[in-house]
Amino acid sequence: MDLAQRYPSLHVSRHPLVAHKLSILRDVGTDTKKFRELVRELTWLLGYEAMADLDTRPRRVETPLEAIEGAEVDPRVGLVPVLRAGLGMVDAMLELIPTAQVWHIGLYRDERTLKPVEYYNKLPDAATVQVCLILDPMLATGGSSAATVDILKAWGAARIKQISLIAAPEGVATLSGQHPDVDIHVAAVDRELNERGYIVPGLGDAGDRQFGTFAGPSSEPGHEPGDETAEVVRRLQRDLARD
Ligand code: URA
Repeated sequence: MDLAQRYPSLHVSRHPLVAHKLSILRDVGTDTKKFRELVRELTWLLGYEAMADLDTRPRRVETPLEAIEGAEVDPRVGLVPVLRAGLGMVDAMLELIPTAQVWHIGLYRDERTLKPVEYYNKLPDAATVQVCLILDPMLATGGSSAATVDILKAWGAARIKQISLIAAPEGVATLSGQHPDVDIHVAAVDRELNERGYIVPGLGDAGDRQFGTFAGPSSEPGHEPGDETAEVVRRLQRDLARD
């Protein structure tokens, strides 16, 4: 069965501009400056789609000709970039919705078990926003996203969405399986995770490529897989096949 049918919360953009920009983003020859620009532009386009159902309230506006009842978006939106690669998506979202607040939850992925470990949490006292948007360019195993949603729900967030550029089927299965109420907006769902937990064909390491720490294909995922990481990926793949 098609993934989008199996997981109703998954929304894969059909916009030609998204497909075009994503292809350039994936290209190993795309340099860091261009890569960052594309992350920003893709986030803008996906964010626009993800926010199609934001609440609005009436706003009285005087045009030069007459008064009308316009609309104003409920400004209470929280952005939660997954560090570090999600940071490159924040400015684009703030351009779309300048009143959004940006909150940081630091999770790192244990390189061997691929499990998320929390090391920083800077959420405000009250969960008074209408929606929280988790920003992570790569929805790989889904572990960090599911853990971030756990934290946000425990804090009191009622409505949560995830915006990613590329997802792996395993990541969609993990996040949708644990949190079917969280909408997932992506530009593409790729074939699979490799033994190191990287999305293939993917685009490599989204953090390295944005922040200039990319050392070329030989440093890229797929080389020398660690046994434990490979086992986690195999388990996710078995779960996905079984569902
Ligand atoms: N994180 C990345 O940056 N790339 C992947 O392919 C998976 C996780």
